Amino acid sequence: MYIVMVTPECAPVAKVGGLGDVIQGLSNELQIRGNSVEIILPKYDCMRYDHIWGLQKTYSDLWVPYHDQHVHCDVYFGFVHGLKCFFIEPHSSQNFFNRGIFYGHQDDPERFAFFCRAALEFMLKTNKHPDIIHCHDWQTGLLPVLLFDVYKHLGMTHPRVCYTLHNVMHQCVTGDFVLRQVGLNPASYHTRDRLQDEHNHGAINLMKGGIVYSNFVTTVSPRYSEEIKHSDLGCGLQHTLWMHSMKFGGVLNGIDYSAWNPEMDRLIACRYTIESLDDKYKNKEALRNRLLLRHEFKPIVAVVSRLDRQKGVELMRHAIFYCLANGCQFVLLGSSPDPKINHEFWELKRQLNDNPDCHLEISYNEELAHLIYAGADMILIPSAFEPCGLTQMIAMKYGTVPVVRNTGGLADTVFDADYAPKPYHERNGYVFNDFDHQGLESALRRAIGLWYLYPHYFRELTVNGMRYDFSWNHPARHYLNVYNYIKE
Ligand code: ADP
Repeated sequence: MYIVMVTPECAPVAKVGGLGDVIQGLSNELQIRGNSVEIILPKYDCMRYDHIWGLQKTYSDLWVPYHDQHVHCDVYFGFVHGLKCFFIEPHSSQNFFNRGIFYGHQDDPERFAFFCRAALEFMLKTNKHPDIIHCHDWQTGLLPVLLFDVYKHLGMTHPRVCYTLHNVMHQCVTGDFVLRQVGLNPASYHTRDRLQDEHNHGAINLMKGGIVYSNFVTTVSPRYSEEIKHSDLGCGLQHTLWMHSMKFGGVLNGIDYSAWNPEMDRLIACRYTIESLDDKYKNKEALRNRLLLRHEFKPIVAVVSRLDRQKGVELMRHAIFYCLANGCQFVLLGSSPDPKINHEFWELKRQLNDNPDCHLEISYNEELAHLIYAGADMILIPSAFEPCGLTQMIAMKYGTVPVVRNTGGLADTVFDADYAPKPYHERNGYVFNDFDHQGLESALRRAIGLWYLYPHYFRELTVNGMRYDFSWNHPARHYLNVYNYIKE
């Protein structure tokens, strides 16, 4: 099958969050299964160019209709760790992708609306007729609208569109001038069944456009797909998703075991497998040495996370004091773009500076993250909501028991040691429901209790988690089923 991914991110060249990892992991796995995959990205100035191999200009005669003019673009081609990537570089006074950061500008709606039109124009002009165009998040929401209302009439009748929602909190609600700029007549789209925003009737919603106009819509876990259809977590998209529920489903993300595997990981102190699990504890010692924690008979509870309200920063703060008061050591690795949250955690760090059982690392540090996954006994993920979440899946691969809130992808991957309706050998962590101190404590208390009182059972839980297969193997099969279904 011939698949084109149109996306604002692809790890490691242009990565802001989990979306970048999904593009890389899914595309790799689709390629391994014999499909032809191409990726179209904006050519940002702030990309990791050191990860692109053989970058060269491949098309220099692309004129993209925009507003009442045509914008000239160059298209570059290069390999990103074996993946074929095209990068679109527009030459206009707006300087769309030379801003030093990926997102966060006032004209983001215009930047990515232009990108959608440019990607289609490029496919048209180079005679690409993929079976599937796979679009991601609000940044590509206008692509299916443009395909079905403009480019189909120019000859692109073949491609079908799969659209994946990675986080519906970011939908891009904007003015209809954005439609006019890419050549669509706003009057045709200002209705509830098309792009009109549910909360602001004068505005249009780009993610909604992607949902309405695609052949199939997915999100990144089955539980999240239900939550956004039936609760406030849909952030206003509930009605639209419900109306389109026949073409909507959840496919759990995978993780890349070539990067996250304690058997082969070069960033940890001692490699290990289920058979040599005792070696995991050499990593615990290494972690203590690195972070200057004392060597005592205590479990290490860890957090590795963006420090965002979505991730439950208030509960993390409570957990630190709860764990320290209940015989644990605590390690946190996190950072936040929000200066207020960063400041709060720096304050906390100062307050706990002399505590030999606690270390807070307020930064982004990929290498330390590996050692924490390997060295900790438990990982805490108290999210308010979590579309999928990679942290719990990575932790389990490293034999670190997850303690998580019952939401989204966390609920689909972590099964409570005491209460899950699953056989014992399939239970792999601790889950709590209520997003408050009592809820959090109810799970932590049980996890810490098991570690101290029944180490044999704790080890079984560890091994159960390590046995799960969260590779891209299963998700890629699901996506191929979706592609085949809409192709027919
Ligand atoms: P999200 O994409 O919402 O941030 P995920 O759980 O899907 O959350 O992915 C988080 C990824 O980012 C994981 O690979 C995790 O190890 C990594 N990560 C998060 N915070 C940090 C940090 N401060 N330092 C290093 N890695 C981090």
